Amino acid sequence: MPPASHDIQRDPVGSYLEEWEALLAGWGERPFRAKQVFRWIHTRSVADPAGMTDIAKTLREKLTGATLHMPVVIERLHRAADDTRKVLVGFPDTPGSGTVETVLIPPMPDDDADDELDDEPNPAMPRIAARRVTQCISTQVGCAMGCVFCASGVAGLKRHLTAGEIVGQVLLGRTLLDEGEAIRNVVLMGMGEPLHNYDAVARALRLLTHRDGLDLSTRRVTVSTSGLVPEIDRLGEDFRGEVALAISLHAPTDELRSSLMPINRRYPLAELMPALRRYPLARRRRITVEYTLIRGVNDQAAHARALSKLLRGLSVKVNLIPLNPVEGVPYAAPVRDDVLSFQTRLRDDGYSVFIRKTRGDDIDAACGQLALQGAKPVKRTLPVFGGARDT
Ligand code: SAH
Ligand code: SF4
Repeated sequence: MPPASHDIQRDPVGSYLEEWEALLAGWGERPFRAKQVFRWIHTRSVADPAGMTDIAKTLREKLTGATLHMPVVIERLHRAADDTRKVLVGFPDTPGSGTVETVLIPPMPDDDADDELDDEPNPAMPRIAARRVTQCISTQVGCAMGCVFCASGVAGLKRHLTAGEIVGQVLLGRTLLDEGEAIRNVVLMGMGEPLHNYDAVARALRLLTHRDGLDLSTRRVTVSTSGLVPEIDRLGEDFRGEVALAISLHAPTDELRSSLMPINRRYPLAELMPALRRYPLARRRRITVEYTLIRGVNDQAAHARALSKLLRGLSVKVNLIPLNPVEGVPYAAPVRDDVLSFQTRLRDDGYSVFIRKTRGDDIDAACGQLALQGAKPVKRTLPVFGGARDT
């Protein structure tokens, strides 16, 4: 059941179908009207009542009065030579509350079919060979976790996004698709720590996977986290392990991890690794381990060996991400040979290891970097650390 505290008028795009039904029932409308409104928003990306052409004018006026509108707008759109589209997203309701980014990533010509995730063929629905776009979305303006190599971490947390602002990025994204493309995967890897904004994120996940909405497959939605242990458990329980999980590990020891990611002091590896082991993954699914390689810091043979040992027995695939240097941060991208030997060492131990290909290079597609251009680092507080404290 949706929590009673949700205010449909404040976050209409983040509202469940049942909440629309309750609102419209109060107005004396028939239940199917709620589904019509919900479908306009979530399957057609139309949140302006004026555009809901099969709905009576009186109801449209009431919806306008109930502040139904799209909570996100495209402030800037960059399209790279490889067709990656990077969107700077603004919030018309709260001017001055910052911007976030979302990125649409078309498949690479040599992308394999990602077979392990393919749904059971449904004879009633012949598969249409759409080009499968992955959309990366943001969950907060800035981030409180303070990872030292990350532009969002350097900026600090400005605010949480609402469920409507999170889902709205995908609704906008869909309007930017080329013919023949479909959004097939959504990754919560833009700005922010998704599990620090749990309620809005969980609501957004339910909306993105709703049958009468975008109807994304839960298994094709990936939550990436820096490692908030209680919320990893909660996500596993709430979605029965169906939501794909990516863990940003970046270091195989507590000492190194704590120096890169302050969250590790709160939830060290001795707590994090068991949480990953008990995540109720479906059979044959794997957790993605993200490992950002930083020159001379975590990219040497000893690190690869220690990582291999740490991950033993876990069902994982490893994504190596060469650091995208952030202005004002004293870390460098790894040298190519170190990236390749890191990969080889892990592969020799039997792991699936991929090197994240750089996409949309000419538009600076690194995480969190577009929205922060020109932003000044602010004083950071870490509210998840048992009461806010400065870093
Ligand atoms: N807060 C979440 C999701 C957003 S960050 C998390 O940390 O998992 C998505 C990924 O980008 C994370 O693995 C993060 O560590 C990585 N990342 C952040 N800044 C980076 C940079 N400058 N270069 C390369 N990867 C970076
Ligand atoms: Fe936040 Fe993720 Fe950046 Fe860390 S890497 S500061 S958790 S967005």
